[in-house]
Amino acid sequence: MAQRIQGTEDLYGRYMRAWEYMCDTARDLFGSYGFDRIETPALEQVATFVHGIGESTDVVRKEMFRVFSGALLDRLLASGDEKSLKPKQRMAMRPEGTAGVVRAAVEHSFVPQGAAPVKLWYAEAMFRGERPQKGRLRQFHQVGVEWLGTEDPAADAECIIMLMEYFKCLGFDPSTLRLRINSMGDEKCRPAYRESVRQFIFDHKDEMCDDCLERANINPLRSFDCKNEHCQHVMKSAPLITDYLCDDCKQHYAQVKSYLGAAGIEYVEDPTLVRGLDYYTRTVFEIEVKDSEVGAIGGGGRYDGLMQLEGGKQTPGIGFAVGFERIYLALKAQGKDLETPAPSCVYVAATSQDERRAAFDVTLALRQAGIRTEADYQGRSLKSQFKQADKLNARLCVVLGPDEVSAHRATIRDMQSHEQVQVPFDDLAQEVKKRLA
Ligand code: AMP
Repeated sequence: MAQRIQGTEDLYGRYMRAWEYMCDTARDLFGSYGFDRIETPALEQVATFVHGIGESTDVVRKEMFRVFSGALLDRLLASGDEKSLKPKQRMAMRPEGTAGVVRAAVEHSFVPQGAAPVKLWYAEAMFRGERPQKGRLRQFHQVGVEWLGTEDPAADAECIIMLMEYFKCLGFDPSTLRLRINSMGDEKCRPAYRESVRQFIFDHKDEMCDDCLERANINPLRSFDCKNEHCQHVMKSAPLITDYLCDDCKQHYAQVKSYLGAAGIEYVEDPTLVRGLDYYTRTVFEIEVKDSEVGAIGGGGRYDGLMQLEGGKQTPGIGFAVGFERIYLALKAQGKDLETPAPSCVYVAATSQDERRAAFDVTLALRQAGIRTEADYQGRSLKSQFKQADKLNARLCVVLGPDEVSAHRATIRDMQSHEQVQVPFDDLAQEVKKRLA
């Protein structure tokens, strides 16, 4: 039997409706903040992610799924050297949404010089070659936003406010969430900070794991996220970005906090919060569920240098992404369901095969009137058709017997009260609509 790949999931039934609910909620809420939807390809050139996310990140180095056609793979295996491939032949499945959206913004010139900012949201599958475990998949789904063309700290605050509102709309009690924020500085002040963390790691090299020693050379800030308990202990006394922020970054951060305060958003400042991707500058944030093992359910930050890294003009930007599967798990652990109930329908039942043709006509007529309609396709008895109607969450049954059909009438049966009325075929759709309303 063919099986799905470990770390991937089929979305169907309740689970599919939950994902749709998350997308619909995003469309409504983000729409009210002025965001339009975008969808970029799941396949991008490797360069898009290398430039944006950073060569040294775990996502690019270890987790990105690379894609080769059979013919390309043959060539690659024959030459033994990936350099034989042209850049456009080096492809990867997107591990996150921001790099692709920013690539599209550069390619289509979404934010020409002097233009108003552009606000985009997406809901897409992401792919990372991680070791599958609960809440950590190889194909997962993210809803995210990108706001390009403004460095106003109000935009940072509004992004965070909208995100917290989103969690509320999905069913979270805000008091069960912890919002952590930090400023990672910018190209003026971060290099000195990185250097001091690198030096700190070298000064403690006998106490750090091999991964951290490797990180010290390429991306020392990642050591704050090391899973090794001993490294975590050592990193507690590492230098903090707060002491290195330049005046502009300090002021920007202070304004973000002041806007959040004005909107009544609770947050915890965490100077060790460094997000995993290289492109972040200034504001970064992450949301987790208190006393829960699902991990972060969302996060984001400002990326003022990313447009340039993707080959565009310097254009500031900020965004976030949240993970559908983790949100589903976290809400479930709180006894809440992230879904709308199965939609109700009208069921057309025929007392025998003699009324099958009439049932066919009535079913089509109801559907043409925009009513979600189901019918029997297995020649079941009337009793089991009613059972099926219950299973399908039908509020009304339209019953067709020989007498009704010869009189061009149908019986409408309310599935809850069992009340029945007969109406002419011509009035059926209107009567059904009236009763459903
Ligand atoms: P990131 O792009 O790593 O900041 O992730 C943003 C959000 O996506 C996280 O907060 C998670 O909710 C979700 N996420 C990230 N990686 C995975 C994964 N491998 N499986 C499921 N959800 C994930």
